[in-house]
Amino acid sequence: SLHEVSRLKKLINDLLHITRAEHPRLKNEEMTDLSETLHQLVKNLEIIHPDYHLFLEVDMKISKISISRQHLEQIMIILLDNAIKYSINNKSIWITAKQEEGEIIVSVADSGMGIPSEHLAKVFNRFYRVDKARSRENGGTGLGLSIAQRLIKKYNGAISIESQEGVGTKVKIVLPYS
Ligand code: ATP
Repeated sequence: SLHEVSRLKKLINDLLHITRAEHPRLKNEEMTDLSETLHQLVKNLEIIHPDYHLFLEVDMKISKISISRQHLEQIMIILLDNAIKYSINNKSIWITAKQEEGEIIVSVADSGMGIPSEHLAKVFNRFYRVDKARSRENGGTGLGLSIAQRLIKKYNGAISIESQEGVGTKVKIVLPYS
C-alpha cells in the first residue's frame, strides 16, 4: 500500500543518514548556534502544528556548540516529532537548553501518553515500538530514538529518557561543552 511505501522510503532515508553519520572522514568540528537552531525549528513546527503549544527556553550563556547543524536538527526533529506524535491529548511541549558544568543539556518534555516502565529501557533499540497496536496509526518505524542515540554518541554526548505512563515523557541530550 501507499502507506507501506512511504514507511519504507523513510526507513531507507534513515539508514542512509546512519551511514553518513558513521563515515570515517566525518570531523566533529562544525560549530552551530544552538539558540538560533532551536528557535528556527520551533518556528517551523508551529506552522506545521498550529494546535500545539511549544515553549522554548534557552540559557543566555550558550553560544555555539560543536555539532553539525544537520545532526543537531535531525536529533531535535526526532525528539520533537515523538513529543508531538505521542501527546495528542495534551498539546504542550517544553524545550529547554542549559549549560551546566561543561555540559550542554537540551530537553524535550511532553505531557502525553508516556511510556510504561517495562518498555522504557528498550525504546533506544532499533525497530522497538511500545505496544504496536496503540501507535500503529502514527506509522513510525521504531528507528527514531536509536538514530538520535547513535548521532549524539558521535559527539561524545548521551541521551536519556524519563517517562511515566499517562503523565508524560522527558528526553534529555547531554553534550560536552568546550
Ligand atoms: P519513528 O522511527 O518514526 O520515530 P517511533 O516513534 O515508533 O518511530 P522511536 O522514535 O524510536 O520510534 O520511539 C520508540 C518508541 O518509544 C515509540 O514507538 C513510542 O512507543 C515510544 N516513544 C518515544 N517517544 C515518546 C514520547 N515522547 N511519548 C510516548 N512514547 C514515546
